[in-house]
Amino acid sequence: MAQQREDSTSSEMRHDWLADRWVIMAPQRSARPNDYVIGPPRELSNQNCPFCVGHEDWTPPAVACYASSPACKNQLWSVRVVPNKFPAVNAHRRSLVDPLSCPLSANAVTAEDLLADTDAIDIHDSAINLFQRRDLTGGHEVIVESPQHLHSISQLDQEATCLVFTAYRDRLRHWLDERELAYCVVFKNVGLDAGASLVHTHSQLIATDILPADVARASERMELFVKKESACLFCRMAEDELEQQVRIVERTVDFIAFCPFASRFPSMITILPTNHQPRFQSLGDAELEQLSRLTHRLVRRIEACYPDAAYNFIIHTSPNRLRCPDSFHWRIELFPRITKVAGFEWGSDCYINPLAPESAAAALRRARI
Ligand SMILES: [Zn+2]
Ligand SMILES: [Zn+2]
Repeated sequence: MAQQREDSTSSEMRHDWLADRWVIMAPQRSARPNDYVIGPPRELSNQNCPFCVGHEDWTPPAVACYASSPACKNQLWSVRVVPNKFPAVNAHRRSLVDPLSCPLSANAVTAEDLLADTDAIDIHDSAINLFQRRDLTGGHEVIVESPQHLHSISQLDQEATCLVFTAYRDRLRHWLDERELAYCVVFKNVGLDAGASLVHTHSQLIATDILPADVARASERMELFVKKESACLFCRMAEDELEQQVRIVERTVDFIAFCPFASRFPSMITILPTNHQPRFQSLGDAELEQLSRLTHRLVRRIEACYPDAAYNFIIHTSPNRLRCPDSFHWRIELFPRITKVAGFEWGSDCYINPLAPESAAAALRRARI
């Protein structure tokens, strides 16, 4: 368990066990006036917005629609899921650019393939191909969270927020449980600095037939923790955070929200179910509603502390085809984009965080919402 430092104004390094990465906490840097870069979101007239009600034919046809009545009595939908018009991932397998260079791509690539791939590099093998290509198939969807031209999920009412979370659960079930793709992630970019190109409140989902290397590594680290400690990494973390209290932002019956000990970014929040649960999409209706209310409050806390800041939101749920699927514990990461990833971070993959998570959690707890 971490010891409290007496001097909290100088730099220290903290280890993120999951990523096996050290983060530099440099609270003294928060005195710099230009540390925090906050810009207003790009405004877009709703006349040009493809997600507004009445513009449904500007997007591909919906794959799922959710309506809440009687709040949306006069509307056909409250939440709408559509394939991304400009997808990062192909929906269908295309012919290979160079079939000889990519023997794995004839079949879906599994986590084992990916891990075997990196393990199997033989220094005596003279046939290392520096220009490998791989086919990538899956799905890229947009979850439009309101028919109105709203800017943030915090502007939705509780019922509409819960419908958004229901859409997340349904689409994860579709891609991971029914289509059995290797990997699927739900994420939200709000504001230009978070990667958003449209203001209208929305989330996205990307499903792929390969497991990204970082996710494979994180899954392996959870498996390693179980082997070493006979306990789940995040169940242990939840217990320790509840005991220490200093980084807790909120606690509900089934979830905790806290600023992780080795946060890469200022005011980063992790949301965990306190009972072990590998898959987000296994959540029951009551838990889902509780989680949607908690997330709504946390976004409001971030918005109260950092008005107009961009933010990201990511749901990490268990990928398919893991060796030990039960060692995975799902989680949500939510963080405002108030610092820039700069040269040192790009060069070293080591992050400098100017705000101690203990201070961030205290400010988020105090926020008037
Ligand atoms: Zn709009
Ligand atoms: Zn767990």
